[in-house]
Amino acid sequence: MVEDGRVVRIFENLVKIYSPSYKERFVAGYIKGYVEALGFLAYEDEAGKALGGDAGNVLVTIPGTADGPCILFAAHMDTVEPSGGIEPVIEDGVIKSKGDTILGADDKAGVAAMLELISVLEGKLLRHGPVHLAFTIAEEVGLEGAKHLDLSDVNVDYAYVLDSNGPVGTVVVGAPYQDSFEVEYTGRAAHAGVAPELGINAIVAASKAICCMNIGRIDEDTTSNVGTIEGGRAGNIVPAKVNLLAEARSIDPAKLEKQAHHMIECFKKGADETGAEVNIKRTRPYDGYLHSENDPVVKKVVDTMTKLGLTPRLIKSGGGSDTNVFNAKGISTVNLGMGAEDVHTDDEYVPVQELANMAQLLVELVKI
Ligand SMILES: [Zn+2]
Repeated sequence: MVEDGRVVRIFENLVKIYSPSYKERFVAGYIKGYVEALGFLAYEDEAGKALGGDAGNVLVTIPGTADGPCILFAAHMDTVEPSGGIEPVIEDGVIKSKGDTILGADDKAGVAAMLELISVLEGKLLRHGPVHLAFTIAEEVGLEGAKHLDLSDVNVDYAYVLDSNGPVGTVVVGAPYQDSFEVEYTGRAAHAGVAPELGINAIVAASKAICCMNIGRIDEDTTSNVGTIEGGRAGNIVPAKVNLLAEARSIDPAKLEKQAHHMIECFKKGADETGAEVNIKRTRPYDGYLHSENDPVVKKVVDTMTKLGLTPRLIKSGGGSDTNVFNAKGISTVNLGMGAEDVHTDDEYVPVQELANMAQLLVELVKI
């Protein structure tokens, strides 16, 4: 049985551990210690070495006690800054941080629910199939841990990432593909007062590109942004260099392709109209996914939520998570709301009831 007090204690212990991206050593140690004390094996992979972090992804396998589907749960161990010296306080059934820090419920609420599940399964009183638990590193810096996670010999029937904000009941059935652009304009420097005609203004080139570009909300599935722009050296020098970072996202890969093509055309136009040169580097940090309500991975969790009296709410997200990476690896996965709100801010909070609900949901999902 899920013990509400125990989940809260685990959660409080977890958020007190400093664990920014690539520095997950102590939280990984806590998780491994917890798992091993209950008599299960925890395996740490080499992702930390490959990525320059101090810990790898932690994987736990719990053998089934009966014939049943194999389920994978995942949550990330790293948190965004400022995350040092987090002091959790409970007021009116809600946990928040005392000082000027995040709480770290993103994603330690997910981690706590998974550890509580292990405690429940330890007694072997429950009939369940094999359960795999993945605790990933470096999610907040580009889903890097999940990308390095080798799940090739795990045969998963249902996979759930516990890393969406929103009440337990939230099911993120779709998230976008993303393209990132690093753009560099090269013009020619000249004295702005003595010989401006000898110069080629890289800032003007970039401005012409941005002026003709569709930016912001493109349609229901698609967004785009120019996020940073840097260039120029002084008011009296025609600027020779401008660098900018931009992105586009869409749940529909065809729409993303169209938007990306449009942005590239605009970047080139800015160069053509001014005589500057432009170098465009386009990358795909992650792929998107979209599941229908009839997909088994969605149906199973919706049925289980309904059984528990939770209200399932199927949504599409505009952000990426480890879920994107697992789907790209061919593992049909959705992201679940773990109860936290205002994540990545000092106002982040999670109700105690949501922590308990999340643990209860995991237990019910594995139960045969
Ligand atoms: Zn997260």
